[in-house]
Amino acid sequence: MSSTEHPFLDGTVKRLLIDGQWCEARTGRTFESRNPATGDLLATIAEGDAADIDRAVAAARRAFESGPWPRMLPAERQNILLRLADLLDARCEDFALLDTLDMGSPIRHTQGSVGLLAGVLRYNAGMARALHGETLHPSVPDMFAATVKEPVGVCGAIIPWNGPLWATVLKVAPVLATGCTLVLKPAEDASLSPLLFGALCLEAGVPPGVINVVPGHGATAGAALAAHLDVDKMSFTGSEVTGRKIVQASAGNLKRLSLELGGKSPNIVFADADLDAAVPAAAIAAFANSGQVCSAGTRLFVERPIAEAFAAEVARFAANLRIGDGRDPETDLGPLVSARQMSRVAGYIDGARAEGARVVSGGCRMSGAPWDAGYFMPPTVLADLCDEMQVVREEVFGPVVSVLPFDTAEEAVRRANATPFGLGAGVWTRDLARAHRLGRALRAGSVWVNCYNMIDPAVPSGGYKASGYGREYGTLHLEEHLQVKSLWFRTA
Ligand code: ADP
Repeated sequence: MSSTEHPFLDGTVKRLLIDGQWCEARTGRTFESRNPATGDLLATIAEGDAADIDRAVAAARRAFESGPWPRMLPAERQNILLRLADLLDARCEDFALLDTLDMGSPIRHTQGSVGLLAGVLRYNAGMARALHGETLHPSVPDMFAATVKEPVGVCGAIIPWNGPLWATVLKVAPVLATGCTLVLKPAEDASLSPLLFGALCLEAGVPPGVINVVPGHGATAGAALAAHLDVDKMSFTGSEVTGRKIVQASAGNLKRLSLELGGKSPNIVFADADLDAAVPAAAIAAFANSGQVCSAGTRLFVERPIAEAFAAEVARFAANLRIGDGRDPETDLGPLVSARQMSRVAGYIDGARAEGARVVSGGCRMSGAPWDAGYFMPPTVLADLCDEMQVVREEVFGPVVSVLPFDTAEEAVRRANATPFGLGAGVWTRDLARAHRLGRALRAGSVWVNCYNMIDPAVPSGGYKASGYGREYGTLHLEEHLQVKSLWFRTA
């Protein structure tokens, strides 16, 4: 990797951002970041652990208790958020390329994300001035009662690697809008854009200590942050297994938690649907970002008379998706993020074969030059499955879709809901009454009718059941960063 390819990758060690300063880890240890498309070394990153998390939490506490941030006028915080959005727009190419290099996502995808994320910052900028309490009317004589909203305090956030900038901005924006402070622990597979975004926050005028970024491993830095007694709220996006550890770690001080965990989302296609729209959408729902999306539509329920043909059409559409290095603007699907993820995904596909599934398309790691240098898995369509198979039950987090025929709407709903998860669900039909029925019957935080994976800064997104608790985007996201205080005044 030459330094000219990205200004941030200049050969220097990428350090931790604590209290507005770039610091070495206390241990002096570092870890490597490599491009999953080529294996090239991108950067060496300071490896934070519990001692660095302690320093960062102390800085965030100082910034919250005695810094200017929580005392700033809403209009001042709004201006900083708007400046941050403008800076992000201006640096769109830098951020998009950094995520593409770091975790493989195609450049068109990462560029598109930057635009949406600038919108998230602007939405939160607006909300910074719209936060309010209520006046109330208790049935007690001579009393006036009102609520005020106050920032919850020092927040911690632990994020995954599948959308590093995305997750960073989603954690930072409501923290800034509400006057909280933050310690962010990026994923060890993708720490670069979170660090660059930390620099952008300083450039936008966010005071030192408000946003701290401490890369490191989950079992050390992550666990220390999750258990920290001086963190008031934790927000975690990642696997269900790690989510359970975060819940346990929160018990020490009963910190507030928001969890955005895994999914095994159903996408239900009826024979009366606009199939010309449903076929590409079903493929993209499952394969976008090489399937490394929590809300990927991985259980594709198709009404039986069209199931076989629909599976073939999805496979045909997928075969035309261009796989390659994410830097190429023609690329539709990049590599998986790491060797670990590749063996995990390949393991699920092999397991499905062993359980009797039919591989309609894909199914084997791409090999030979140039594929061997990276972790490329083609979109894989599986059929002849039953709901009990592991690949149908568990989150694969790779480009793998299970086609599952059904006979009635009731059966589709029952099977779609028969999962511990409940993040997203899709319904494709021209029957409006059926669309409404299923929209209500599906147990998921988002149900998309004749569309899939829609996102907007104003519309909440989150999980039912084991997909987590709390909502991101929209006003509910801000509420999670606020305490409600009731004030009583004797008036006579
Ligand atoms: P994956 O296995 O796909 O990496 P994880 O849920 O383990 O998914 O990782 C998401 C984030 O959680 C990463 O930032 C990771 O470092 C962090 N993490 C992993 N284990 C722990 C843990 N025990 N405590 C806190 N954070 C953790």
